[in-house]
Amino acid sequence: MSEIITKSVKELNKALSDGELSSSEITQAFVDKIKEDDDTYEVFLTKTLDEALNEAKAFDEKGQAPRTIVDGLPYVLKDNIVTKDIRTTAASKILDNFIPPYDASVYEDLNEDGAILLGKVNMDEFAMGSSTENSAYRKTKNPWDLTRVPGGSSGGSAAAVSAHLAPFALGSDTGGSIRQPAAYTGVVGVKPTYGLVSRYGLIAFASSLDQIGTFTNTVEDAALILSRIAKNDKKDSTSFSGTYPDFIKDLEAPLTGRTIAVVPAFEEGLQDEIRDSLKEAIDVYKDLGAEIVEVDFKLLEQALSAYYMIASAEASSNLARYDGVRYGVRAQDYDGLVDMYVKTRTEGFGPEVKRRIMLGTYALSSGYYDAFYKKAMQIRTLVVNEYDKIFKKADLLLTPTTATTAFKFGERSDPIEMYLSDLYTIPANISGIPALSMPAGLDKNGLPIGLQLSGPALSEGLLFNAAHAYEKVTGNEKLER
Ligand code: GLN
Repeated sequence: MSEIITKSVKELNKALSDGELSSSEITQAFVDKIKEDDDTYEVFLTKTLDEALNEAKAFDEKGQAPRTIVDGLPYVLKDNIVTKDIRTTAASKILDNFIPPYDASVYEDLNEDGAILLGKVNMDEFAMGSSTENSAYRKTKNPWDLTRVPGGSSGGSAAAVSAHLAPFALGSDTGGSIRQPAAYTGVVGVKPTYGLVSRYGLIAFASSLDQIGTFTNTVEDAALILSRIAKNDKKDSTSFSGTYPDFIKDLEAPLTGRTIAVVPAFEEGLQDEIRDSLKEAIDVYKDLGAEIVEVDFKLLEQALSAYYMIASAEASSNLARYDGVRYGVRAQDYDGLVDMYVKTRTEGFGPEVKRRIMLGTYALSSGYYDAFYKKAMQIRTLVVNEYDKIFKKADLLLTPTTATTAFKFGERSDPIEMYLSDLYTIPANISGIPALSMPAGLDKNGLPIGLQLSGPALSEGLLFNAAHAYEKVTGNEKLER
């Protein structure tokens, strides 16, 4: 069994095509692993294991080779991606009983491609957080060290792939929620260019920043899966409507002549082993023929502040819809309509979600709008300009994904300290550019380190090319369990 569950999507697809493995054998191996380990890692919020086995059987009975890279293969979805007739909570009590009446476009696409859903996985409530501790349901463990968080907000998706409960997962990234947990759990996490993957059916947190992306064990898997889910969607008005680049054709291209930017000032405040890993990566890229250029990035802290203003402002508006009337749970005892709204929201939302709603409502309120929201939007423009300057000098930017490796449960109880977990990931969301986190060795406690590559809009192909080259040289330390 362990042989099956540690295979990449590409290897599983090949085994299916060659008739070495059936979809039932593959799906059963993951189902067994989930039954064995989910109580330990606390990954799932809703399981669809019987349905998955039935779909696998149906695939096998057709007796046909897989039509797509994911055909006949199991996977998991973050629980903020809606699935018709399958409970979707966004890890919030307010959606405890929510059964969506429609499918998110990504889920529809994966269904058409023949992928098999194993279930919906844990996250920070409404994707607000960096540790998955804000889930109203359970505390997902980091598979590398059960006393530590898997990161967040897509902690369940990251832990599922890291612990081999699924060969791939989708998550969402508003300020780092794919890349940061990917770094903490030693997997590949990709936040695509804003608009590349449809947000239709993604439960909205901050609509101008939210983006769906992938968790995989290899860079190539990420490129293959993103190629399936990146497409124009009429149901999402922010969906990219131009030509979608081919993310795979240059995967093996040489890096000679490529320029990679690094920011020397970012080395301050990094955990020692992460600084070392970054230096080693620079050497790897030099050996591969790339030129390294040093650049400034002055707006890191301002980007973080601007993010928490913009994201909270958008969240306060997006979450107004949870009023006990249209979705989910309604308070039991109330005295009139306003009291029903108040009690439903008071009982339904957790503390972090309430904090964001208050922060966002305040930032948008008359008299404060210019000082907070407008200022944040001005910083946003400056961050976009800062990246433009960098990408005039270089093809890609290499940075750490996070300043530390995974922290312990309860260690970042101060909200500001928790917000700082996303320092290096947030600027990419602010400017809409693609970024990925790739595994880059282990620290002295044996915890995974992640490095981040980002590039201009639609440069995913180049990101995959550079990350794949690094992965081939360094190998990728995987959790073998
Ligand atoms: N940790 C950040 C936040 O709490 C980012 C979350 C995300 O990307 N969804 O807002």
